[in-house]
Amino acid sequence: MNSCIFCKIASGEIPAEKIFETEHAIAFLDIMPRAPGHTMVIPKIHAENLSDLPREEVGPYFEACQRATDLIKKALTPDGFTLGMNYGRVSGQEVDHLHFHILPRWQGDGGHSLQSVVSNKPTEDVKIIAEKIRKAT
Ligand code: 5GP
Ligand code: ZN
Repeated sequence: MNSCIFCKIASGEIPAEKIFETEHAIAFLDIMPRAPGHTMVIPKIHAENLSDLPREEVGPYFEACQRATDLIKKALTPDGFTLGMNYGRVSGQEVDHLHFHILPRWQGDGGHSLQSVVSNKPTEDVKIIAEKIRKAT
């Protein structure tokens, strides 16, 4: 039996404030919003994180992320957005079903930039790190 809470939202077994649904994805409001309009977009199929999402699902999934962002922009007129995903426990991922957080941002909302979530300056030269990543293919 699948005990994944977001699979249950996708199947309708658990209610959620859905914004829209496509053949591939669902956008719904976060139950503990960090900002007005804090939305999550999930693929309908279970994938733990971005790496697990089948290649053919990636395009339709990101189209839904774009659509949700644009709808929120029109409806709530925020000054900007913070967009992103927690991947793995170390990053704060609590629900093991891929989800894209859409956080509307307003001037003076007390938030920070996405890159401020970590402060782990590399000791290796960027050229060495880049070469390692390029070799991974
Ligand atoms: P994570 O830390 O895994 O990136 O974020 C999981 C998010 O899912 C949290 O922001 C949490 O509030 C939200 N969440 C967890 N359970 C539910 C639920 O049953 N319904 C909704 N709408 N959101 C949920
Ligand atoms: Zn799931």
